[in-house]
Amino acid sequence: MVEFKNVSYTYPNGQHALSKANLDISDGEFAFVVGASGAGKSTLIKLILRELTATQGEIHVNGFDLNKLKPRKVPELRRTIGVVFQDFRLIPNLTVYDNVAFALRAIDAPTKYIRSRVPYVISLVGLAQKAKSYPNDLSGGEQQRVALARALVNDPQLIIADEPTGNVDPARSFEIVDLLKGINACGTTVLMVTHQHDLVRYFGGRIININTGEIVFDEVIGGADEA
Ligand code: ADP
Repeated sequence: MVEFKNVSYTYPNGQHALSKANLDISDGEFAFVVGASGAGKSTLIKLILRELTATQGEIHVNGFDLNKLKPRKVPELRRTIGVVFQDFRLIPNLTVYDNVAFALRAIDAPTKYIRSRVPYVISLVGLAQKAKSYPNDLSGGEQQRVALARALVNDPQLIIADEPTGNVDPARSFEIVDLLKGINACGTTVLMVTHQHDLVRYFGGRIININTGEIVFDEVIGGADEA
């Protein structure tokens, strides 16, 4: 669950990035976030991840009240969220398997669990045959699947995908969204930032449009895939 109540954020240099934003994303929803460059999309994500703290207003994410969250509790919040970035952010000298296992090892998950969970999420994103490959030997689409497996391995409540198709072949972009839709169908909330209007038109669903720091549109539209 992501709830913004009258949230504003102003950068220390005085730049207003978000003003009086109200947002309510329930558990299990899938929403696209669209808006021009500089509209405030990254700021919104940074507020959800508590990389920034609201200048005004209230934010609740997955049961955490972010205004009241103590710095030592921030990792707990972040463990409930999986993030996928436009530039994948994989570790080049680790195999696909180890890139995904890394997130579990970092939280000292039991070895037995890692050995069953990692192959499971790698097969979920369709890369079982590539588990021993290195990121540089994979296509952009495949690298993004690895990043998705890594985001999923902790079984987060919420996946934030920040322009996940930005460095992926246009034809493969649809497959990435299909995967996110599949993950969403299993109960994970998904928030996907995108510039690709063709994707939004094709899939439809909830569209949140930000323009100069304001949420100017937040509605569900029909998609071409339902036609
Ligand atoms: P988007 O992700 O939609 O491109 P951002 O959230 O990055 O937009 O930016 C929103 C506004 O805040 C823009 O006017 C941008 O220039 C400004 N901004 C972003 N980061 C900073 C920063 N670190 N310091 C000052 N202004 C910033």
